[in-house]
Amino acid sequence: MPSYNPNSSVNDRVRWLPSSNGTYSASSALASLRTPHPIVPWFKLVWFPQNIPRMSFILYVAIRGRLSTRDRIHKYDPMVVTTCVICNTHPESHAHLFFKCLFSRAIWTQLMNICGSPWNGLFWNAFIDWASTHWRGNSPTIVADKLCLGVAVYHIWRERNCRIFEGTQKTSSVVAHFIIDTIRCRLSSFNLKNHPIISLNWNVNSS
Ligand SMILES: [Zn+2]
Repeated sequence: MPSYNPNSSVNDRVRWLPSSNGTYSASSALASLRTPHPIVPWFKLVWFPQNIPRMSFILYVAIRGRLSTRDRIHKYDPMVVTTCVICNTHPESHAHLFFKCLFSRAIWTQLMNICGSPWNGLFWNAFIDWASTHWRGNSPTIVADKLCLGVAVYHIWRERNCRIFEGTQKTSSVVAHFIIDTIRCRLSSFNLKNHPIISLNWNVNSS
């Protein structure tokens, strides 16, 4: 039993117990409500200071395997066609859509030519594991690599949705162009004076 020693010289006051200093904060309220889990190894692959939040969110859901790909929808609606809407040859899954589909591979090939990262021969899960290990730190090279992943996954997912819900379609070259433009625009806000290779590869004016 805790002991209480009332101190009549001090006024009573309300204390917010989840916070160490007794003061309410939204973060302490959130921490008291949720169950803590260990930090996943790919955390910084998705969330980093230079990220593009809406694209990082899609990447986060994709890495969790929770996007509504047709293989997942088929589990609760057997009437749904599982074929990839982009290539029309293989079942649509996260692994297929983002890495194995010929459409995606053509995009990665263009991005790989700029970054020089050996991601084209890896499977989805293997690549995420590899990138989590190798893409550490905040150098412009690493940031560009991480932006590539998030922006590419976002635009591939967007193209897939446009084909299903809007009946429009773009070539892999056009989508790759959007991806490269998005990354170039993001990189242009960085100071790249000491990173001429990045400036050159991404055609960013570093002055
Ligand atoms: Zn496909």
